[in-house]
Amino acid sequence: MAAYRTLFRSTIIVHCCLILASVSVRAQDSLHAWAGGADPAALETWVTARLAAVKADIDKMTAVTGEHTVANTVRSYDDALNELSLAGNEAYLMYAVGDAAPLRDKGQALVAKISSVQTDLSLNQAVYKALAAVPLPADDPATKHYVERALLEYRLAGVDKDDATRAKLRQLQDKITEQSLVFGRNVADGKLEISATKSELDGLPEDYIARHKPKADGTYTLNTDSPDSTPVMSFAMNADLRKRMYIAYNTRAYPKNVAVLKSILEARQELATTLGYKTFADFAMADQMMGSASNLKTFLKEVDDASQGIANKEYALLLQYAQSRQPDLKNILASDSGYWAEQYRRAKYDFDAQSVRPYFPYMPVQEGILTTAAHLFHVEFKAVPNAKTWDASVSTYDVFDAVSSDHKKLGRIYLDMHPREGKDKWFSSAPIIPGIRGRQLPEGALICNFPGGVTNDPGLMEYSDVVVFFHEFGHLMHHILGSQGQWSNGGGFAVEGDFVEAPSQMLEEMFRDYGILSTFAKDYKTGKVIPVALVDKMNAAGAYGRGRWVQGQLLYSTYSLQIHDRAPSDVDFDALWREDFERFSKPTFVDGNRGYASFTHLTGYSSNYYTYMLDKVIAVDFFSKFDRTNLIGGPTAMRYRKTVLEPGASKPATQLVKDFLGREQSLDSLKVWMNEEFQAGTGKASAGR
Ligand SMILES: [Zn+2]
Repeated sequence: MAAYRTLFRSTIIVHCCLILASVSVRAQDSLHAWAGGADPAALETWVTARLAAVKADIDKMTAVTGEHTVANTVRSYDDALNELSLAGNEAYLMYAVGDAAPLRDKGQALVAKISSVQTDLSLNQAVYKALAAVPLPADDPATKHYVERALLEYRLAGVDKDDATRAKLRQLQDKITEQSLVFGRNVADGKLEISATKSELDGLPEDYIARHKPKADGTYTLNTDSPDSTPVMSFAMNADLRKRMYIAYNTRAYPKNVAVLKSILEARQELATTLGYKTFADFAMADQMMGSASNLKTFLKEVDDASQGIANKEYALLLQYAQSRQPDLKNILASDSGYWAEQYRRAKYDFDAQSVRPYFPYMPVQEGILTTAAHLFHVEFKAVPNAKTWDASVSTYDVFDAVSSDHKKLGRIYLDMHPREGKDKWFSSAPIIPGIRGRQLPEGALICNFPGGVTNDPGLMEYSDVVVFFHEFGHLMHHILGSQGQWSNGGGFAVEGDFVEAPSQMLEEMFRDYGILSTFAKDYKTGKVIPVALVDKMNAAGAYGRGRWVQGQLLYSTYSLQIHDRAPSDVDFDALWREDFERFSKPTFVDGNRGYASFTHLTGYSSNYYTYMLDKVIAVDFFSKFDRTNLIGGPTAMRYRKTVLEPGASKPATQLVKDFLGREQSLDSLKVWMNEEFQAGTGKASAGR
């Protein structure tokens, strides 16, 4: 995922920047909130200075008395956004990675404050009028697109409404933000416990059982946090235990979040109708690639048609296998689905995920991914051993262009890759500094929680961890390469929200290539390269169940759309949840499943959960253009860099897609991707060397 961006979504989208290599280190250093010491007071001082600069830039553009021009108006506007991005990005960074609670708390409070400044700016009529008065430069399409998009975002925020209406919009925005935080907190804090007997733990890994100590009566207490709950759903042999965990997990924020979600929907609906849209779904898609809820319905129908047959086939095989083990079984219960999928995967593919871990010790994987990215994108990474960062464990690299004759510096990346006390527990890519050509180099970070980083621990990763690493690195490269333009808010992270996950999902596909894997996946003890047969099995097991995965994405996309495409009074959370489940999922619905109450994407993505599905379609379509026998060496990677990554947000994303594919995206590659599990010879590592 891409961090932080969602905080700003639905008002103005803020981001990215760059500097010439000749600009002094001091100048770039002053853009680091942590440069003066990572403590709450220094952070506040630094953010306050940024916000003062925002005000100065805005005052400057609105004070123009003569003709408004790109130079005297758009430049000041973008300078203001740059300062706001710096403040928001780095306050968020300190909130996520700060080494002590007071710093993280300060970061959180400042993020809220910056958000509020952001909302004020999005409703500032003087700024809107000044921007609207600038004649659009016909000879500079990037600037023209930049201003047009800014004006659209202003109109979507309601800037052209009267004072009373704008006050009401502001109130509604605040209410949505506040209730979304409550929704998220209820999920995060909503830990439920269940009790299990010793024999019910059969099938769970030994280290799992060892982590749990029995109570005096011999029973064990398990909770709904994922380290406890996920293994139960995949490995526990006892169906009743799985069902109890399933219900607990899917009710951990129920009933608390029902009223919260209702109030969010009401505020969103009022916001949308005030702004002239029939439903919130239409409003939320107006500035996206998708364009409208009606386009989305068409898209979902097409993906459903393309995936249903494959999903049915996959499910029939799974059910057949489960029935061979349990002859009286009529259908698989939803709470047993994970368990049977795991059993089936083991039986059919003879693949144990544990068997590849010795080939993925953290440090060589990091080096392998950097080397892969360097070759693919024609860049160089140079370690900066003495860079000042927020924690001693963070490694820093400067990124140089390997194509330009002077090996121009493009930016800097920070890798904060292992868990620390109090650090954010998720995996994300976060912009730090936006790029502005000739002035400011982009910087970004990965904030992850991979194994390793501890003396004497090789940090053996799961293969899914390595895929996540590729994914997040895709975001980072998009940010660095895409943030070399003249506008700070025109970089990789500033593209339409429903395109953001395409470059990251595209890079995930590279993971399956033996040619790439074999350069770094070596046994941490013997140095032996990962065997091709093992990668074949890993890829075959990984390709299993894609049709059902797509149907699952359709379930969530449809639900997220449906609760936002009608009056909130017409939304029955439970009825829709069951209806969508029964439509897209073959296993039997478990009564009492209230999973919507802990579906946190409903706050961040609102009606736009489809983003993942749309971007998967685009990502595999992009990947289809690469020569599988020569992923890294062929010319396609450079063409991809030039047409998709480097333009950042300087063009509409639909144009980026067309520029690279030579046409609009189609579902053909997705169909091939879903079918790989049924086609002998494809999806195999050895076929793609
Ligand atoms: Zn992502």
